[in-house]
Amino acid sequence: MKFTFETSSEKSSILLIYTGGTIGMKADPAEQTLKPFDFSQILEEVPELGKFAYRIDSCTFRPLIDSADVEPRQWQKLAGLIEEKYEDYDGFVILHGTDTMAYSASALSFMIEGLTKPVIFTGSQLPVGAARTDGKENLVSAVEIAAAKDSDGHAVVPEVCIYFGNTLMRGNRTTKVSSENFRAFASGNFPALAEAGINIRYNRSGIIRPADWERKPVFHTALDTRVSILKLHPGITPQVVRNILCGPETRAVIIETYGSGNAPSKGWFIDLIKEAVSMGKILLNVTQCLAGSVDMKLYATGKKLENEGVLSGYDCTTEGALAKLFFLMGMSDDNDFVTAQLDKNLRGEISKKLETDQNFR
Ligand code: ASP
Repeated sequence: MKFTFETSSEKSSILLIYTGGTIGMKADPAEQTLKPFDFSQILEEVPELGKFAYRIDSCTFRPLIDSADVEPRQWQKLAGLIEEKYEDYDGFVILHGTDTMAYSASALSFMIEGLTKPVIFTGSQLPVGAARTDGKENLVSAVEIAAAKDSDGHAVVPEVCIYFGNTLMRGNRTTKVSSENFRAFASGNFPALAEAGINIRYNRSGIIRPADWERKPVFHTALDTRVSILKLHPGITPQVVRNILCGPETRAVIIETYGSGNAPSKGWFIDLIKEAVSMGKILLNVTQCLAGSVDMKLYATGKKLENEGVLSGYDCTTEGALAKLFFLMGMSDDNDFVTAQLDKNLRGEISKKLETDQNFR
């Protein structure tokens, strides 16, 4: 991994969008749980932000939510807000609960095409008011990254990312891996985009830059959420598999398989796959492993899936696959279009050559 130093970031303007999550929660003694509190107090809690020469404006979502309550409409609201304010700011920092942050970052990465500015999600494991909080470092560094510009004035990281635990990761490559550790997220199949120590060191060769810096991004807010996830496990029954694969409400199913994309070879399982495919369902194979890729050619148990029309999700995360399907199905009712696009690397979500001409306008 190659990192370089970044220094030029003066006079940037940042919009801080607070959606909820532990970072802004306080203990509610009556109910003995954590609940969100007003955003203005976060700025009081993090006076360090005042040391930057940036203009930092903030905006609070109402109601503030625990990210377990995040729905696609919050992603649409976020995308809409970023579109509305796009020309006014150099970067966007989204304070978000950690539980579904990887889903939200994945979704935004697909919903914004041709991004030229940073959109950095962050949050914390401990509330910002707690003595040992990780929230301050996460927020302060996320703001610095969102503000960072090259000597030519372009953003250093024009991507949707998660910054957490001293590490900047491509949003659609992340998964929450710990409910306790300050390094709560992992990017199993793609190296960090930056690491923060005494300096913030950027992995420049890993960062996606837009084909045209002058072109305003396209914001796609139509999402088709008719997706289910089938997680395989020993002992799974035909009834359960049928309900998920062939349910009338689903247009696509993400199958979380074993290892390099393997599934049971039993007759009933393959028959249900065939049935779902004949019903026109899109079946996408992603691995349960945190790292590594689906390769259905490797074992006979994977080959059977491929033969029946199951698509490879390559090394996509489940969160990334869900977001990609919502986005592509929202664009078109044509499953052939969706299937063809699923095979492409649209936003750096899979380890294939990046599509530069996406032609979605
Ligand atoms: N339950 C919280 C949330 O996701 C956890 C957190 O923020 O870390 O909103």
